[in-house]
Amino acid sequence: MNNVKRRTVVAGLGSLAASSVFAFGQSKLHVGVVGGGIVGASIAMHLSAAGAKVTLFEKTAIAAGATMNSFAWINASSLDEHYRKIRLSSMAGWRELDRELGLGILWGGALRWQPDGPAADRLQRSVDILKDTGYPLKNLSRQEFGAIAGEFSPENIGVAAFSDLDGHLDPVSVTHKLIARAKALGSELKMPCSVEGLIMNGDQLKGVKTNTGDVALDRLVIAAGVDTPDLTSKVGYETKLIHAPGILAHTSPVKFTTKKVVYSPGAHFKQFADGRIVGADSEEPPETLSHKLIKEKAINFPSKAIEDMHTQRIIDVIATKFPAAKDATPNRLTLGFRPKPVDGMPIIGYIPGSSSIYSAVMHSGITLAPIVGQLVAKEIIGDSREGVLTPYRPERFV
Ligand SMILES: Cc1cc2nc3c(=O)[nH]c(=O)nc-3n(C[C@H](O)[C@H](O)[C@H](O)COP(=O)(O)OP(=O)(O)OC[C@H]3O[C@@H](n4cnc5c(N)ncnc54)[C@H](O)[C@@H]3O)c2cc1C
Repeated sequence: MNNVKRRTVVAGLGSLAASSVFAFGQSKLHVGVVGGGIVGASIAMHLSAAGAKVTLFEKTAIAAGATMNSFAWINASSLDEHYRKIRLSSMAGWRELDRELGLGILWGGALRWQPDGPAADRLQRSVDILKDTGYPLKNLSRQEFGAIAGEFSPENIGVAAFSDLDGHLDPVSVTHKLIARAKALGSELKMPCSVEGLIMNGDQLKGVKTNTGDVALDRLVIAAGVDTPDLTSKVGYETKLIHAPGILAHTSPVKFTTKKVVYSPGAHFKQFADGRIVGADSEEPPETLSHKLIKEKAINFPSKAIEDMHTQRIIDVIATKFPAAKDATPNRLTLGFRPKPVDGMPIIGYIPGSSSIYSAVMHSGITLAPIVGQLVAKEIIGDSREGVLTPYRPERFV
């Protein structure tokens, strides 16, 4: 049972701050959050807004994990209706946070096209399913394509589609802003500070052991990305993630030409407001002998020359579809590891058998950070179990 009696209704950051009242004389619930990525940042911010005493632990730097290496497309592109709806709620959350905190999110929609063939058939199937939903993905005729997407030069369009609700963000800058807001609301950031052990009294959490000393806590939220399994295993829970590496080529700034996120044959890409282009030519390393090791475990590129080769190749492909990229010079290549649960869905909730240790790990953490922050704060501060999270509970793997 929480030592916070009053329940709060979590709708947005403003309403949280306004509605969070503790009974006079009660001490605040002290919640630790492990991970200064976009998910941990949002959770810390919402917990602080709801009145908890928050300590955020980050072992390296803000956004140093998957967040820094993310494509950061905000979308609800899922054929699973429940998951699509929760993503849509989170997109609404981003619009609200963007207004409140000036996050600079680019809301330009997402454009997809494919030449005739199996990929076009798959895209058309998505359009058929999504066109009349709350996340409308609509076909574009050639004329419509020319009218709204003249900045691109598609080689061959079999099927084209556009969804106008999508956005994209700069994951590092936005995570810094969320953490700045969390600190302004009272969160303490301990960094660099690595959580190395849990201090338990029976099933009840008493605190954490870190490389800089012990910290007493009432609750702990583990939002440690691909490191989450190491921490949950300390209380006997196996967080099942798959190894999912992904690269992105980054350019120096060129003239700002598009707000859209683009998924085209052989390349997905976007442009930041300052003109930098980022993209890749595949979601995962292709099946080749040279990719054997990276497909097994998290390793770095063997050499800078290989990084540069990938960066140039990707930019050359993007330039065939997006002429503005012809003026771009390669800047760097990033290699990230997605915190991807084996069934593709988020894992959010108290660790089975525990009422004090909570876990939040997911792919699409960029899209989902606002709604996850809201719901986690609501469950922890209000001592509630939100029905909308039922399909995503850790129990499903037990
Ligand atoms: C190539 C790529 C493309 C992607 N594209 C998209 C996309 O388009 N849209 C989308 O929504 N999502 C996308 N994702 C997924 C998304 O980036 C992640 O889901 C999200 O960034 C996860 O955020 P997080 O805060 O949970 O984890 P992370 O960002 O990994 O943060 C975890 C943090 O915990 C810290 N940490 C770990 N262990 C400890 C410890 N013991 N003590 C203290 N600190 C610790 C780490 O240093 C790290 O900073 C993509 C990911 C990749 C790699």
